[in-house]
Amino acid sequence: MNNLKERLILIHERIARACAAASRPADSVHLLAVSKTFDAPAIRAAALAGQRSFGENYLQEALAKQLVLADLRLEWHFIGPVQSNKTGDLAAHFDWVHGVDRLKIAQRLSVARPADAPLLNVCVQVNISEEASKSGCRPDEALALCREVFALPGLCLRGLMAIPAPLAPGADAQAPFRALRVLFEQIRAQGLPLDTISAGMSDDLEAAIAQGSTIVRVGSAIFGTRLSKTSDP
Ligand SMILES: *Cc1c(COP(=O)(O)O)cnc(C)c1O
Repeated sequence: MNNLKERLILIHERIARACAAASRPADSVHLLAVSKTFDAPAIRAAALAGQRSFGENYLQEALAKQLVLADLRLEWHFIGPVQSNKTGDLAAHFDWVHGVDRLKIAQRLSVARPADAPLLNVCVQVNISEEASKSGCRPDEALALCREVFALPGLCLRGLMAIPAPLAPGADAQAPFRALRVLFEQIRAQGLPLDTISAGMSDDLEAAIAQGSTIVRVGSAIFGTRLSKTSDP
């Protein structure tokens, strides 16, 4: 548990250094702790160390942990690929959904968001490296999708999310994040009030912050190596 607290401190130091290097205020980057595959006691320990927001990829696993941790009133972000049959539970049980990559998903989240809940924060996921088999809309589809999501009730369009492809040796680590930032600025220039770039993980958060990321999603550098990967039925 102490270990976990130390690792959180180290991550906050990395974020602060990356912000300083980019002449950004240290509080301009939010740390999302990615707790997928880690159990509720690990999340509770992170919460006791001051971490409030957690990212999960697998719906059933997340719902089970939310139930056990309900007393902590944590902020929950769904960061996995969104299947249509999961939208009801996502709209009812999460504060953020990062992986909206088509209109149908956004429409279903909008309809399912309970009327008495605050708006569901959403990011449009962009396949920034244009990988063949990855989730995310094409970069040239992002503006139109953002316009459509922005118009839907129950949702608050916050920004863009991306998971860049692994870097080729010697490649510029900032290049995909730069492309994401350019897209983000193009969309804002069209009048859409985006305030969030969700990008950067344990291994590349510095490159992401250098290019304007506002949410870094960090798992293994906080909780340790993931041994098992669960999946939803
Ligand atoms: C697992 C995951 C992360 C965290 O990755 P680490 O390398 O463990 O920091 C971030 N974002 C998404 C979408 C993930 O699935």
